[in-house]
Amino acid sequence: MHSYVEAHRRSLADRDGFWRERAALIDWQTPFSEVLDYSRPPFARWFVGGRTNLCHNAIDRHLAERGAQPALVYISTETDTRRTYTYEELADEVNRFAAILTAQGVDRGDRVLIYMPMIPEAVFAMLATVRIGAIHSVVFGGFAAASLATRIDDAQPKVLITADAGMRAGKSVRYKPLVDEALRLTVHPPSRVIIVNRGIDAAMSSTPGRDLDYATLAAQYAGESVPCVWLESSEPSYILYTSGTTGNPKGVQRDTGGYAVALTASMRDIFCVAPGETMFTTSDIGWVVGHSYIVYAPLLNGSTTIMYEGLPIRPDPGVWWRIVAEHRVRTMFSSPTAIRVLKKQDPAFMKAHDVSSLRYLFLAGEPLDEPTARWAADSLGVAIVDNYWQTESGWPILSAQLGIAETPRKFGSPSFPVCGYDVRLLDELTGEEVGADRKGVLAIVPPLPPGCMTTIWGDDQRFVRTYFETLPGRSIYSTFDWALRDADGYYFVLGRTDDVINVAGHRLGTREIEEAVQAHPGIAEVAVVGVADAIKGQLPMAFAVVKDPSLLETAEGIGRMRAEVLSTVDRLLGAIARPGAVHFVTLLPKTRSGKLLRRAIQALAEGRDPGDLTTIEDPAALEQIRDALKS
Ligand code: AMP
Repeated sequence: MHSYVEAHRRSLADRDGFWRERAALIDWQTPFSEVLDYSRPPFARWFVGGRTNLCHNAIDRHLAERGAQPALVYISTETDTRRTYTYEELADEVNRFAAILTAQGVDRGDRVLIYMPMIPEAVFAMLATVRIGAIHSVVFGGFAAASLATRIDDAQPKVLITADAGMRAGKSVRYKPLVDEALRLTVHPPSRVIIVNRGIDAAMSSTPGRDLDYATLAAQYAGESVPCVWLESSEPSYILYTSGTTGNPKGVQRDTGGYAVALTASMRDIFCVAPGETMFTTSDIGWVVGHSYIVYAPLLNGSTTIMYEGLPIRPDPGVWWRIVAEHRVRTMFSSPTAIRVLKKQDPAFMKAHDVSSLRYLFLAGEPLDEPTARWAADSLGVAIVDNYWQTESGWPILSAQLGIAETPRKFGSPSFPVCGYDVRLLDELTGEEVGADRKGVLAIVPPLPPGCMTTIWGDDQRFVRTYFETLPGRSIYSTFDWALRDADGYYFVLGRTDDVINVAGHRLGTREIEEAVQAHPGIAEVAVVGVADAIKGQLPMAFAVVKDPSLLETAEGIGRMRAEVLSTVDRLLGAIARPGAVHFVTLLPKTRSGKLLRRAIQALAEGRDPGDLTTIEDPAALEQIRDALKS
């Protein structure tokens, strides 16, 4: 414990020394002149003046020593495909893709939108984009046309890269029609769409002049090599959209040098994966865990990464452990939801494989309940490491740092602040620090460490307002999570302070879902809350007021309206945002000033006491919620 406390203290007291040492883990084309420029708080510029490139550090710099080592192992149980790319082969693919992008006029600072299933070409596209100094924006393939359109209009990409289809549980999920629909909705459509045709959707249509076939381009540009564009450390590498309390997602902007340094160091200090060893992260490239720990960190570190398309229970619930055994995986990174799914299966599947190579199973993205953590530890016989972070941070904020100190873990706790993060727990009303075992808002004293978001794409003011001006007294970064710290210094994360919910580790804004439900012309008003779910952590539940109550007079009418609401959400946001239940009421509980009492609704939906409701306008609204839940 002492060595952790000392390392953390030093990371803040001698910030420059701490990060200078870690900056030596990557290559710099031009050395930086200053570790940190914090002359314009809360905007931090790390490794000022240093010039580097993410793709160079992820690929080129390993070629001399590790050219023949596997870099990317692709396994799809959906299409029964396995492909291994050595660092050399990955370099060829990425160079070729970079040549394709350059030929389409993509230049330094231009945006490239990637809307793809879990296929290697998605990784080639990301690395090719940063190679030429352009900025990628990967949009999760489960988002529907309207969500995609909003992100296109905000990022205004020059090129969009997609595929004909993805696969889920043996069924094809068509991507291209969604892209076509999104492009019809946008004000700023990209001029070119590159399509990786997997041969899944035979009926895929193409728009001549705009749509380009990847295989044709790949043949044309085979063998091309494209030099890296050296960026100043603070120049953006990518944008990743995340949900908040408004219906408008925020484009989290990441820098280049700080991200490369923080991620490379995290492989040593937190994830304990050495160059040459293998990491298996089960997320999707559309989420931050996928960006950081499927793609960038393992490659920056000279490790081997496994990219998996498929479910954890197909063809059988042993599939992940078979992969661990076959590839001698050292560290695995997954989500509590996935482990809860596996927990319902026959434990024999978990025990059937030799997982002796595995040292750690990292779990993040949502609260990790103790029974799930215990079950995973007992069945696998490996250490479970709960770690807490956000799209904004890009890498862990709270975690055991086993590469620094072997601190014991407590179930239910993601341990301690990671080195570089000055974490505080503050009283929401006074901004004062709270004592041991007291609930407070988890906040970070700026400057945020390297790797964290540098701003919101195109909106510096929103960055400052959203994150640094919500707690009283001073400018401090709010995570919008409640947490407490016990007397031994262990943190426990207690859930969001805002209206954001977490479904299977994916962050969704209740406002976004409400706006989608309200897009149905028959809905007057709606409240969406997150309700505890045994597998997914939380599920959205909607309470809607219809414009014409006569439509709900028969059971058939209710069923029809419910189905229409669900398909509206599917169409606008995607099935991941689909409410688990839709209830109809004639009145929603609000304060006298008209604010929805979401926390009271949520409490009732979870069978808890709704608490102090002196501000409620009409108590009958709560009775309606109670009745709706009973029916
Ligand atoms: P996202 O930005 O989608 O990764 O979601 C981040 C949010 O997920 C955080 O603000 C937390 O609410 C939640 N979260 C992430 N990791 C953990 C964890 N280990 N324990 C509890 N909540 C977590």
